[in-house]
Amino acid sequence: MSERTVIALGGNAISPVSTAGTAAEQTANIHRSMRQVAALVAAGMTELVLTHGNGPQVGNVLIKNELAKDVVPPVPLDWCVAQTQATIGFTIANTLSYELTELGCGQPVVPVVSRVLVDVDDPGFTAPTKPIGPYLTDAAEVARREATGTRFVRVGDRGWRRVVASPEPLSCVDRPAVELLLEDGAIVIANGGGGIPVVDDGTGPLRGVEAVIDKDLAGARLAEELGAAVFVVLTDVTGVAIDYGTADERWLTSVTVAELRELQAAGQFTAGSMDPKVESVCRFVERTGGRAAIASLDGVIAAVNGDAGTQVHP
Ligand code: ADP
Ligand code: MG
Repeated sequence: MSERTVIALGGNAISPVSTAGTAAEQTANIHRSMRQVAALVAAGMTELVLTHGNGPQVGNVLIKNELAKDVVPPVPLDWCVAQTQATIGFTIANTLSYELTELGCGQPVVPVVSRVLVDVDDPGFTAPTKPIGPYLTDAAEVARREATGTRFVRVGDRGWRRVVASPEPLSCVDRPAVELLLEDGAIVIANGGGGIPVVDDGTGPLRGVEAVIDKDLAGARLAEELGAAVFVVLTDVTGVAIDYGTADERWLTSVTVAELRELQAAGQFTAGSMDPKVESVCRFVERTGGRAAIASLDGVIAAVNGDAGTQVHP
């Protein structure tokens, strides 16, 4: 039996910035990624959980909300995240099942609509930092919306963008369902887009909130809760670089979590892109003593085996 593994797929594995992001393009791109994942399964991996980003997709749903608001009632952000989990999850399941069958493997692939518990008092709700959705250019419109409690941030000369909380993922509500599916041999897709953020008021059902959880942090949380041995973050670069983008750039092949924490504290990693990945792998390794990696999609098999990307050890 192979080790239980959680793999987080970056937005680029689904919708590269170089494409318009039509459904056909996203499907083709996911299909390309799933060929790699199927090869991994055919090579003997069992107990595999995939998680994925949803930035461009949830942005598009918000734009539709915006344009259609006088015709159909806009839906809240937790609904938007749920919608993207469904469309991306279905496309991953559909293409991965096909590739598995081609390789003679018969595992079912099951996307789980996944909720992640956050703290209603998370500081992100009073000081939101995560920009989402369309750019607005009408200052009066921005002021009107700010009066109703929506927060905005000025983004250079492109206008304003809504900012929402990016709260800490506290626990994966649907983890027991993921566990049952894994025990029965399924490949599971969970926590898409960081999971649907929910809070517990103690007065009724869990309540969805207007926030987006970082998908790398939520992936690390899920990997920890599932007792995974390996957590791999796949993105569009071969791993973690120090002095990234400079003449002194150097790619890290193997580091201890303590070394990575030192580089992080020295400000080596960009907020919102590489830093959350570094934070995620550090948390997973620190809390579980397991192994983690940040790597590119092309190298997924080698990355899972410990031979590619940036490998992070206890
Ligand atoms: P994803 O969609 O996979 O989450 P992101 O764009 O959020 O991808 O993060 C990956 C990007 O982080 C890379 O494309 C790279 O440009 C950027 N990056 C910032 N700092 C570093 C670094 N120190 N090493 C490697 N990549 C870095
Ligand atoms: Mg990212």
